[in-house]
Amino acid sequence: MGWPYRGIRHVVEGTPGKARLAPTIHGMGLRSDQGIVLRSYPFGEADRVVVILSPNNGKLRTVAKGIRKTKSRFGGRLEPFTHVDLVLYEGRNLDTITQVSVIEAFPSLRSDLDRVLAAGTMVEVVDAVATEQEPSHRLFLLLQRGLKALDRGTEGADLVTSFLLKLTEAIGFAPALDRCASCGRWDVPLRFSLSEGGAVCTSCRPSGTIRLTAGLTAYMSALASSDLTHLPPSDPRLSGEALGVTRRFLEHHLERKLSSLAVLHE
Ligand SMILES: [Zn+2]
Repeated sequence: MGWPYRGIRHVVEGTPGKARLAPTIHGMGLRSDQGIVLRSYPFGEADRVVVILSPNNGKLRTVAKGIRKTKSRFGGRLEPFTHVDLVLYEGRNLDTITQVSVIEAFPSLRSDLDRVLAAGTMVEVVDAVATEQEPSHRLFLLLQRGLKALDRGTEGADLVTSFLLKLTEAIGFAPALDRCASCGRWDVPLRFSLSEGGAVCTSCRPSGTIRLTAGLTAYMSALASSDLTHLPPSDPRLSGEALGVTRRFLEHHLERKLSSLAVLHE
């Protein structure tokens, strides 16, 4: 693929005094970015819109022209979960991908269906909470760590639960687990309230709460605070319930069902 614009790297990396080298057509130009591919969908006859999470610019909707042709120059580089480096041509509405190179493909996670499903949940939820044109460093790092953990062979419900709880923390609505979500009292709560945003004590107990197995809030709390690659030992008695409660909490907050999580959990 020919690349006629010498010096563009300097421009996009912000070297002062080189800005005039930027090729512009109708006031638009080229810029570089990087991010993790969340998903893509067909666009026009042969193109796809590729949705990417960039640490610096949040959720990007970009166009990959000709990607649905048999001999696409993009190959498999824009598959979901791939961390890519991009050169984008800025458009009025959508930017067009002119160059793409792989930073990390996470090949091992793709060889295992359970891990692909877990990665699918991660990108689905990130896609649901990420905003456009807003830096999302924490969310990006969390997704990158989640995919890395899966690629290294960590798997199971606890990894997804831990990821989701960390995500709620990153976007500022983590559920109360160590104290009552309603009155703030320290307790060992046995019920969870979606509307109050966490576990609730016996004296508050608003209507419509979910009953919890003893030890569940401590279990979830440990998952929320541990490293994704060093999770505490899994307890099969609590693992499924922890994911179920976390899922319902997220769905309540996002006001939508999480389809990939349904496949994973049930
Ligand atoms: Zn209370």
